[in-house]
Amino acid sequence: MAGCQRFYRAMLAILLLCVTLQGCTKVETLKEYRKDIFALNTWVNIRLYAGKDGPTILDKAVKRIEEIENRMSVTIPDSDVSRINSNAGKQPVKVHDDTFEVIKKALEYAELSNGAFDITIYPIVKLWGITSEHPRVPTEAEIKDKLKFVNYKDVVLNEDQKTVYLEKEGMGIDLGAIAKGYAADEVARILREQGVTHALINMGGNVVALGGKPDGRPWRVGVRNPRSENMQSHITIIEIMDGSVVSSGDYERYFEQGGKRYHHIFDPSTGYPANSGLMATTVVAPKSIDADALSTTVFIMGAEKGLQLVDKLEGIEALAVTFDKKIYASEGLKGKLTVTDKEYELQP
Ligand code: AMP
Ligand code: MG
Repeated sequence: MAGCQRFYRAMLAILLLCVTLQGCTKVETLKEYRKDIFALNTWVNIRLYAGKDGPTILDKAVKRIEEIENRMSVTIPDSDVSRINSNAGKQPVKVHDDTFEVIKKALEYAELSNGAFDITIYPIVKLWGITSEHPRVPTEAEIKDKLKFVNYKDVVLNEDQKTVYLEKEGMGIDLGAIAKGYAADEVARILREQGVTHALINMGGNVVALGGKPDGRPWRVGVRNPRSENMQSHITIIEIMDGSVVSSGDYERYFEQGGKRYHHIFDPSTGYPANSGLMATTVVAPKSIDADALSTTVFIMGAEKGLQLVDKLEGIEALAVTFDKKIYASEGLKGKLTVTDKEYELQP
């Protein structure tokens, strides 16, 4: 009798275990979670698909963005960047690994572009104040004076100490052309770590796609019409499963005076807004930090030289939109684009 009871008890235990295990392995249905915040001077939108931990994952992503902003903002007084700038010509400054990595990458792109991309552009950025309340066209003399401090070769990195030193007092760096890319990559890394397999991150034109849409189709990233106020108006669409699509242009931040447009991307060789014949550029790359640095670089270098540079880089593609509404593409994008606005014309 006792043996029989033991048998039933054992059977019940096995049954309960099965039910519990089944409960554990049940596939959770994925829901869409979204978050919009203003950070790194732009609107950030994260859309991800997850189980009920979606909100917690979004919080982690937001925290990481804020962390990066607090280290790399040029306007936050105790950020790494502000400390580097206020110690220019005085002493090296120890920075967080994040900041060090971004500055190192920025200097690589400065070399690669022969100084077209140059984070020491800050004195010029400040002088024009394009993104400030009072932008203005400075005098030639003022520009000449500030250009003395623009040279990426005067940035000294110490890999062991993780210090950054600007050699001349008056110098300053600005990571506005590359930090968003780094932040977008970091958000993607966190999402993957948390098991997210489908997501789209947009940081003011810095887009990172993760794993395509939940239905298996690629994400569709519209390339904005640089002369339309409507942010939804696009000139072509780039389909992407995993990777980054980043755009730069004269339409993002600018002011007009005397019928002329003065925008926020400067040519370090002149101290004036870059005038290479382009309204916009878009770069597609596996990592957003590269796409970000390169979209700014191609914009400054112009269609011919910029796309030549991109063609030399493995796995990176770009397009450049000229003032006369012609779209030039890098080798790997040729024949793959469809123009969605009849005013624009794709070049063979
Ligand atoms: P993006 O929107 O990524 O093209 O970056 C534009 C921002 O980069 C500007 O608002 C400036 O803060 C900064 N910037 C402007 N000119 C340059 C340049 N020649 N090299 C690096 N950064 C620049
Ligand atoms: Mg950029």
